[in-house]
Amino acid sequence: MTDTKILLDESEIPTHWYNVVADMPNPPAPYLGPDGQLLTPDAMQAIFPPAIIEQEMSSQRWIEIPNEVREILRLWRPAPLYRAHRLEQALGTPAKIYFKYEGVSPAGSHKVNSAVAQAWYNREAGIKRLTTETGAGQWGSSLSLAGSMFGLQVRIYMVKVSHGQKPFRRSMMQTWGGEVIPSPSMHTEAGRRVLAADPDNQGSLGTAISEAVEEAASRSDTNYALGSVLNHVLLHQTVIGLEAKKQLEKVGDYPDVIFAPCGGGSNVGGMMFPFLADKAAGRDIRLVAVEPDSCPTLTRGHYAYDFGDVAGLTPMMKMYTLGHDFMPPGIHAGGLRYHGDSALVSQLYHEGILEAVAVPQLGTFESGVLFSKTMGIIPAPESNHAVHAAIQEALRCKESGEAKTILFTLSGHGHFDMASYDKYLAGELQNYSYPDEAIRAALATLPKV
Ligand SMILES: *Cc1c(COP(=O)(O)O)cnc(C)c1O
Repeated sequence: MTDTKILLDESEIPTHWYNVVADMPNPPAPYLGPDGQLLTPDAMQAIFPPAIIEQEMSSQRWIEIPNEVREILRLWRPAPLYRAHRLEQALGTPAKIYFKYEGVSPAGSHKVNSAVAQAWYNREAGIKRLTTETGAGQWGSSLSLAGSMFGLQVRIYMVKVSHGQKPFRRSMMQTWGGEVIPSPSMHTEAGRRVLAADPDNQGSLGTAISEAVEEAASRSDTNYALGSVLNHVLLHQTVIGLEAKKQLEKVGDYPDVIFAPCGGGSNVGGMMFPFLADKAAGRDIRLVAVEPDSCPTLTRGHYAYDFGDVAGLTPMMKMYTLGHDFMPPGIHAGGLRYHGDSALVSQLYHEGILEAVAVPQLGTFESGVLFSKTMGIIPAPESNHAVHAAIQEALRCKESGEAKTILFTLSGHGHFDMASYDKYLAGELQNYSYPDEAIRAALATLPKV
């Protein structure tokens, strides 16, 4: 039996992030301002530091990781790559299953990889405070931690329903010094408007983003940080795929297919973009984003310009979208409940370079429980989407007798999500497929450009 855990030396943490824009067949569709005209870098200066804006617009293939950022990444990176022998045996599949485990970070997911970089660039630019939003709490925890490492104050607008359901995520943010505000709130115009229309509104990522952006734009000492979707976030996450590639090289392997959970696209970009360069060079590899049936952005959304938030304060991005006023159904993978998707991931999917699949909630938990019993790690509900797709692929291999090499991202652990496992184990979870009428209705809400 070959190794179960494939490790790298600290010296093998990547020195550069990989920018997929350099290898895309077509340049990315530009962002548009509220007037429908091309967004200028100047327009982003109210909320982002210059280095981040440069990364957002860059087509340079390799971008150096600052030393101080690498030093902090060393606290948990390189992240281990595992060969899931025991899962393979339980499935009786001839396929080889590998997974990259990002739950070893202090906040328990991949999100800290970008939080540290963003906090550093903001401190370098003289910024004192950051605002952000969080749904399930993963991003808010990550940015609180990163802020504390660089002496920045962090204010987090947390989607109200999660604020009630995830008290320990809130405690983590507060332990690291973050200030947590349930959203919609009375602190912002955007929040007040939502509450005026519906005092019991339980919030959404789209609303929380509006609140955080509005506050950052109104204060010169304050910037905004986003945990997914934008190009620079996907760039920062490429440490995942770059390490995984090296780890597979160590055991002389290469994936036939890669799965990653997809909410805003940072796992997809982070793991898959470094392999996409090989695909562009002619290598045969399938790259598959996995999303929930209840929020089927890539598989059933509209490919169109839309806002990233409810109030329409963000630039317009060409992406797959369910409409920016999407109010998510109460599914248990909070990190996947976003109406849109990364513009880069959307374009690559549109061009047939990436694939996508939507999976039902119950299947993801069933697979997550099997994974927990065989490999020990209890995955985050978001991560269970990739676990499920990988298991389905391994079962197809069992039928066809193909010994494929499967790789997936285990984006985080589920230690703060046990309430959702409780519900699953008690038989209280259901499948929910987002209705066609709602997808059709969203067309009418898309901005006309
Ligand atoms: C946020 C999150 C996701 C989804 O976000 P992407 O940007 O699409 O990767 C997946 N898994 C975990 C654990 C998360 O916290």
